[in-house]
Amino acid sequence: MTIQLAEYVSHLGLIDHHCHGVTSANLSSGQFEALATESSWRSPFGGSNFDTPFGVAVRALCAPELGLEAHCTGEQYMERRIALGPDAVNQTLLRGTGIERYVVETGVGAHMLGPKEVADAAGAEFGEIDRLEALAEDELALAENGEDFVARVVERIGASAARSLGFKSIVAYRCGLDFDPDQPTRDEVRDAADRLLRARTSEEPVRLEDPVVIRFLIWEAVRHGCPLQFHVGYGDSDIDLHRCDPSKMTEFIRRTVDTGASIMLLHCYPFQREAAFLAQVYPHVYLDTGAAVNYTGFGSHAIIRESLELAPFNKVMFSTDAYGLPELYYCGSHLWRRGVARVFGDWVADDEMSLDDAKRYLDMIAVGNAAKVYGR
Ligand SMILES: [Zn+2]
Repeated sequence: MTIQLAEYVSHLGLIDHHCHGVTSANLSSGQFEALATESSWRSPFGGSNFDTPFGVAVRALCAPELGLEAHCTGEQYMERRIALGPDAVNQTLLRGTGIERYVVETGVGAHMLGPKEVADAAGAEFGEIDRLEALAEDELALAENGEDFVARVVERIGASAARSLGFKSIVAYRCGLDFDPDQPTRDEVRDAADRLLRARTSEEPVRLEDPVVIRFLIWEAVRHGCPLQFHVGYGDSDIDLHRCDPSKMTEFIRRTVDTGASIMLLHCYPFQREAAFLAQVYPHVYLDTGAAVNYTGFGSHAIIRESLELAPFNKVMFSTDAYGLPELYYCGSHLWRRGVARVFGDWVADDEMSLDDAKRYLDMIAVGNAAKVYGR
């Protein structure tokens, strides 16, 4: 039965509900390794990011796709990768993911292939998610004063809500998820924006960290009743991990139950249990284990299992959170498939769940839940 299930999982089409662009550059080893980690520093003592859980997964899973032996060395992998060139590598790895729809967040990686180009390389469909803080930073560069900024953002978020599938916030990075759940008044936002504009210089773009303005963006997005993605947990050195526990935003979640907005908790590691609790209790909360699956490599089944301990099966989604490297898409998809095949396979093998139920739940997590929430 579990063999039947593993076979079923290997053919599941997927909606990747949170990912980013892919680079079209022919990466050097150093550039590849920089994109293969959330760290901003090189591996010490001459170490390599091919010797991490993700690096091991790349050498095990992606190497054969590029015509190499599984578990080849990092040097062999890079030599082949550079010889094949970025177009062939992108196409081979993206087409091997089984992802049928890429929901691309465009707030980072402006120099990378955008949603349509990724989808074209993959032979798949795409949708877009707009990052609230990036959109506001654009407007902070142009606004004449606080009042003008507020008007610009209201219009921009309205236009974006009509065009894109939803929004993403990196409030976890900029303020922490223990942000004040109150909706700020228009006067408070205008005054905060005025302060930012007074400090603006022509040399550097404004980096938006003001909690009043960020809360305004979040509530403005909520007003449109869109899916609203939140970075949760694990990320790069900009975050204070202890402030990225999603239970810290419980009061905000409570206040948005009846707004029509859906709260999408992304990545969640190591708070997948807290996220699963919120997804169980609140009707508009969903979770995935995106980036966590990639960066925990072949240990990721344990995180997937924890994310499925408590959350109803209609509240869990698939994502890769891939950024830059097609390997993150490939490993994100295949590690997830291995993880869910193992978790659901155990339940089916022990006759705790029927094979039909397992298939039905997997269809929901792979595609159905995202299709319902994003709607188009
Ligand atoms: Zn992301």
